[in-house]
Amino acid sequence: MKPEVLQDALTFHLPATLDSLRQMVGINSFTNHGAGVDAVGQLTSELFADLGFAPETVASEHSGYGRHLFLRRQPASTGGKPVLLVTHLDTVFPLEEEESQDFHWRPEPGEGRIYGPGTVDIKGGTALIWLMLQGIRQADPEFFEKTDWLIAANASEEVMATDFADRTAERCPAGARAVLVFEGGPHLDGGWHIVQSRKGRSVFRIEAEGKAAHAGSAHENGVNAVIGLAGVLPGVAALTNYAADLTVNVGHITGGTVINRVPHHAAAELEMRAYDPQALALAGAAVEALERPLQGRDAAIRVHRLGDSPAWPADEANQALAGHWVEAASQLGLKANLVPRGGLSDANYLCRLGPTLDGLGPSGGNAHCSERSPDGSKVPEFVEPASFVPKAAMNALALARCLAS
Ligand SMILES: [Zn+2]
Repeated sequence: MKPEVLQDALTFHLPATLDSLRQMVGINSFTNHGAGVDAVGQLTSELFADLGFAPETVASEHSGYGRHLFLRRQPASTGGKPVLLVTHLDTVFPLEEEESQDFHWRPEPGEGRIYGPGTVDIKGGTALIWLMLQGIRQADPEFFEKTDWLIAANASEEVMATDFADRTAERCPAGARAVLVFEGGPHLDGGWHIVQSRKGRSVFRIEAEGKAAHAGSAHENGVNAVIGLAGVLPGVAALTNYAADLTVNVGHITGGTVINRVPHHAAAELEMRAYDPQALALAGAAVEALERPLQGRDAAIRVHRLGDSPAWPADEANQALAGHWVEAASQLGLKANLVPRGGLSDANYLCRLGPTLDGLGPSGGNAHCSERSPDGSKVPEFVEPASFVPKAAMNALALARCLAS
């Protein structure tokens, strides 16, 4: 693939890319607004039909959410492992919030930004997939034709529903050649951030069941659940190990009713995160081991595991994939910075399908923010239109290198 031909093709298709993005941003697709999510899915299907992609929509497991969208383009003979391009259709902004904050498509050429809901998270990523494929088709038609492409668009990424990963896995039973996630990747410190690992997360609720008693006349008969719970929490917090990138956050606590009762119940909720699945498992086991009786009958500390999101570690296969991005960037006179990220994305659930990279979308910022203050100290979510061509060029060249190797 000749970089000059690729870059010319991308530059040619940029205005159409941004116009498609404008249309997507114009449709409210808050996760709970299923009809809006479906409308963005429809628009996306029409956009990719032009590139020969066949759409399939699949209902979410959750009523009220929109339908997941899968777009496939397969060569006549296929080895069965697609290149998986991952995006999502939903945003975090309810319609009322977009209206009350007057948060809409707003290009500010002087700032090099376009503001609007979902501009970088992640409608800009969807538009960049389209641009990248247009560039590949023009610069290397043979590579475009012979590749098995699967675009997977989650209807409910923002609420971390896990059914999308299962529906995606069903469509690539042999796994994927590469799992490429198009969340935004900022340009910082002289380089483009490419995400090569994400922390996993486990969530727990610790409950103390004590024994109520009159605080004045029968204090000695009570078992104080607040004190029982308070006794175990410092040990939980102490599981944090910054050197091992393991954090434990006790984020919420409740307990007791009125002060003339010995409290019979208290509860705390916490989450822990780590890049290393083993470190996460050990810390989770340590919290579960806190289950114990509290001073006698029918009083106890109980631990409930509320949920797990698997870690995506930077293993050897991921590092080999990331290496193609580093090389492609330097071929273009650019720099790719491989970074870890603490937040979750679909990469956590899809990395089991094959070597994975994230942050392949355009550069932008302030995702999940809609506020704009008069003094300009707060500005909402934005994307940088100048980042589309270099990012799409880097992705296309890296993919060509990776699939040729
Ligand atoms: Zn988001």
